[in-house]
Amino acid sequence: MHLGAEHKTKHLCDYKKCERHVRPFFRQDHFRDHLRIYHKEDLLRRGTKADREWWASRAPRPIFKGWWRCSRCLVRVDLDANGFVCDACGSQCEKERQRYRLETPKPSVLPGEKGKGKGQSPRLHHPIASSGSSVRKRAASS
Ligand SMILES: [Zn+2]
Ligand SMILES: [Zn+2]
Repeated sequence: MHLGAEHKTKHLCDYKKCERHVRPFFRQDHFRDHLRIYHKEDLLRRGTKADREWWASRAPRPIFKGWWRCSRCLVRVDLDANGFVCDACGSQCEKERQRYRLETPKPSVLPGEKGKGKGQSPRLHHPIASSGSSVRKRAASS
């Protein structure tokens, strides 16, 4: 009898120091919970309203490092390259998460940040994606 265990989708945590970076999740919802609970990412729970307290409890790094995580496929989406539209599945970042990234002043020093001399300027000019296609077109032509 053939057991197709290897064909199940595995989800490896993309935090290199995390023990789940080598020990995969076999269920996406478990991975999502892990990212939300363990790494304190801003993955909204469907049907639950995120209040100020919840936002305050989120880790700053996933919010201010120039990416967001698609809540459908759980991949990191680079803001410079793709804006607020996931290039893997085409879903759009939740408005609330877009707003939080655009409107919250970035802390001057992020915890665990090493001084990387990359000449970082505050990146506040990502337009809120109103329609995914125009953002993608613009990104492609530049
Ligand atoms: Zn992890
Ligand atoms: Zn996606």
